[in-house]
Amino acid sequence: MTRQLALMGGTFDPIHMGHLKVAQSIYEALHFEKIVFLPAYIPPHKLGQNSSPAADRLAMVKLALQDYPAFTLDDMEIKKGGLSYTYETVEAIRAKHPDYEIYFLIGADSLVQLASWYHIRELLDEVKFVVARRPGYKPDQSQLEYHFGPGVMERLVFVDTVRLHISSTDIRARVRAGKPIKGLVPAAVEKYIYEHHLYQA
Ligand code: ATP
Ligand code: MG
Repeated sequence: MTRQLALMGGTFDPIHMGHLKVAQSIYEALHFEKIVFLPAYIPPHKLGQNSSPAADRLAMVKLALQDYPAFTLDDMEIKKGGLSYTYETVEAIRAKHPDYEIYFLIGADSLVQLASWYHIRELLDEVKFVVARRPGYKPDQSQLEYHFGPGVMERLVFVDTVRLHISSTDIRARVRAGKPIKGLVPAAVEKYIYEHHLYQA
């Protein structure tokens, strides 16, 4: 049987229980050997928004993954710096893990933006996307086919995982407003956020 791994890309500013629980349920449902978290340095669609330093985002991912033995971290995009294009990252991952079939895990909100991804059609030939349903985002098949061609649905695996109303945006806003974030992020990440004064006004 082919070994399969899934990549989980994101800015993780900060990593939260939405990422972790969705990844865990997909890991269990689809029997991946591992899930590789890939923090982005600056994703092209987030240029201009102020994000936390890569070192902090990376440190929080490391703390969070301690509780999940099947989840690993690859910091290649952060090490490389500059813009991160998933198409190029996937090529590098493939070289590192030649004996694996590679999937890419995204939330349904990212599906909407997929059309703007660099070399997306080539990327869709390379990897299948596992799409986790996310509250507030409904995939539109005809729109997807319009953007990516009639075969696109075969390259997308929709998974009905736990639906969690958790986002990094909301967590940053809660910290800024002095509201608790207990339970939204792992305890070690919560501690890191306060100790390093992240997301404060
Ligand atoms: P932000 O609010 O800053 O955009 P985010 O919560 O969306 O942060 P990202 O780092 O942007 O987190 O997301 C990384 C990946 O995880 C994306 O593919 C996103 O769709 C997915 N994701 C994040 N939160 C959830 C969630 N609650 N349910 C399903 N997928 C999620
Ligand atoms: Mg996001």
